[in-house]
Amino acid sequence: MRVVIVGAGGLGGPIALALARAPVELTIVDPDRVELSNLHRQVQFSDADVGAAKATRLAARVGGVGIVGRWTAPDQALAGDLIVDASDDPATKFAIADHAVATRRPYVIASALRYGGNVMVGAPGAACYRCLFEDVPDEVPSCAAAGVLGPVVGVIGGLAAALALRLVANDRRDAGSIYVVDDARVDHAPRVVRFARRAGCTCRSS
Ligand SMILES: [Zn+2]
Repeated sequence: MRVVIVGAGGLGGPIALALARAPVELTIVDPDRVELSNLHRQVQFSDADVGAAKATRLAARVGGVGIVGRWTAPDQALAGDLIVDASDDPATKFAIADHAVATRRPYVIASALRYGGNVMVGAPGAACYRCLFEDVPDEVPSCAAAGVLGPVVGVIGGLAAALALRLVANDRRDAGSIYVVDDARVDHAPRVVRFARRAGCTCRSS
């Protein structure tokens, strides 16, 4: 099974490290380079990695293929049998979910901001990311602007990895669910919300 991880930062690091032990081929996509300010929440990198491309450095650590660039839907190298979003870009999350729905692939979308985050799991036939969030929000605070607590990405990244591993094992019980950690300073246990397919959602026609 080929797993594509989109993002090699705070979330992509723990996800890639956890999946490295699974019987999968990993491809890691990220356009950015390691900055000194990343190190406190991107435990996969050290001082020696500053200035290097995140995708290639992380891929080297986990025995995968690193692609320096942005994820784009039609690129076959970026398709994979399972796509795990660990980006901090809402437009990328929607594009990944749309692509996964259209090509009938399972997917995981992970997000972390400030003290909390969430992980959504999708698979053919289940409610999709757009059933829940409808469309790219006009304005969202980015991690760069709003910040994210270092340990939060570990909690959310670990959760995303555990849910991705279920999909690797062809266990789709989480499809159409979102796992939400409201405030990791208070409680690490996620709330699990199963949601229904939304009438009129684009996934209904695919
Ligand atoms: Zn939908």
